[in-house]
Amino acid sequence: MSARWSDLVAGALGAADGGPGVGVDRLAVRPGEVLARVHDARGRVQEASLIRTVLPDAEWERVCAALASQPVFRARLAAGELPVAAARVFEVLGLDLVPRGWADLVATCSCDRWEGRCAHLSATAAALGEEADRDPFVLVRWSGRERRAVVDRVAALSVPGTGASAVGEEAFPEKTEPDTGGGEWARGNAQVGTPVSAAEFWSAPEPPAPPPLPEALGARVRAAAPGAVTDALPIFSRLANAPGETE
Ligand SMILES: [Zn+2]
Repeated sequence: MSARWSDLVAGALGAADGGPGVGVDRLAVRPGEVLARVHDARGRVQEASLIRTVLPDAEWERVCAALASQPVFRARLAAGELPVAAARVFEVLGLDLVPRGWADLVATCSCDRWEGRCAHLSATAAALGEEADRDPFVLVRWSGRERRAVVDRVAALSVPGTGASAVGEEAFPEKTEPDTGGGEWARGNAQVGTPVSAAEFWSAPEPPAPPPLPEALGARVRAAAPGAVTDALPIFSRLANAPGETE
């Protein structure tokens, strides 16, 4: 997993900037579209645009449920952060927070270069990556959700005893045997009071008797978490460990 959001963006859209003299004067991100004002070496200004599909409400619900089911993401989002590993959650759900490539975008520019990608679009993609390093939630907004909506939804799904969190954590460990690393995930969730991670913060005190869960809720979370999620869990589990801890 890349360490920076800009690495993910560069991996998908290319690492090259616009070249000598080309720079982005202004970058604006709104749902479905990145708009940039780009100048070239001769001072000419172009308007570039990167249009992507926004994720439907139902997909955002799956994303938030998946994030809420993972202690490390619950804690980081509660702190207003979006770790790069969150991109993997989207990927596991068959979604893309960062588009996989130019083929997933509609890219337009006001310049008259029609063959290939112009320098202005390359510069826009590079600027988007840099902006995402400063504030990863620009990628969330581009994908159709504001930071507050995602943070609030994950928090709501994370409240102990409301069912969503319990369902999410129950749904994952059931497929982790035999012990191939996934067992650690199961233990981490089972041991309330482990002095390591956000799991303690979110799950303690453990509710004595969670109320029965609505059928529909369980189905939704399970549907959002097919077997592939389990395969990815050891990564998240390691993230929850103390810095410097190795396996
Ligand atoms: Zn152009």
